[in-house]
Amino acid sequence: MSVTQREQRARDLADAAALAEACRKCAIGAQRQRNVYGEGDPCAGLMLVGEGPGETEDRLGRPFVGRAGELLNKMLAAVDLAREDVYICNVVKCRPTLGTPGGLRNRPPDPQEMANCRPFLDRQIEIIRPSVILALGAPAAKSFLGAGFQITKMRGRWYEGPAGTPLMVTFHPAYVLRQTGGEINAVKRLVWNDLKQIRSKLDEAAAGRAPVPEQASLFEG
Ligand code: SF4
Repeated sequence: MSVTQREQRARDLADAAALAEACRKCAIGAQRQRNVYGEGDPCAGLMLVGEGPGETEDRLGRPFVGRAGELLNKMLAAVDLAREDVYICNVVKCRPTLGTPGGLRNRPPDPQEMANCRPFLDRQIEIIRPSVILALGAPAAKSFLGAGFQITKMRGRWYEGPAGTPLMVTFHPAYVLRQTGGEINAVKRLVWNDLKQIRSKLDEAAAGRAPVPEQASLFEG
């Protein structure tokens, strides 16, 4: 990847982010604090796609920050990937919220919001052309694979994503953090297995990367 190509992709992403910033197609577009377009390497081999920004992301304008973001960084490190090496975004770029007596709460994006925002995600995929897409959590998986996707039964397999890109689904880090007792390590082990497959696929696409060390321990949540 030449410097020129990297710079061109960065410019294209900045142009697309400006369009998302101006967008108010959904009601949540008017309620958000910040548009959370995405961040990372414009030439990343791996694109991670979550469902939508939460409270911290909305405040900071960055995807996957806060506790779930910290765990995501550890998950990536477990397969020898730095956050800067990948591209991270969400299916919807504005925070989906639910008004409650206690204030605004996060909720999954609804199908119309996902459809409205899809062109922004498609443009990101078109610019970055990742070798692998990893969908994090059921809502992101359903946006690619249909409403019938069941994450507990269907995660950890390869699917054909946009433009034929290999696509896998694993649990969202926030879901991992919600587990208690012995479930925590059981879910982490499933995610670890998924990540090892991701790493192998990336290695296939980009020869010369170091293999995942066998002694790597489960990431700490
Ligand atoms: S969620 Fe996407 S489509 Fe909806 S207002 Fe925000 S940027 Fe626009």
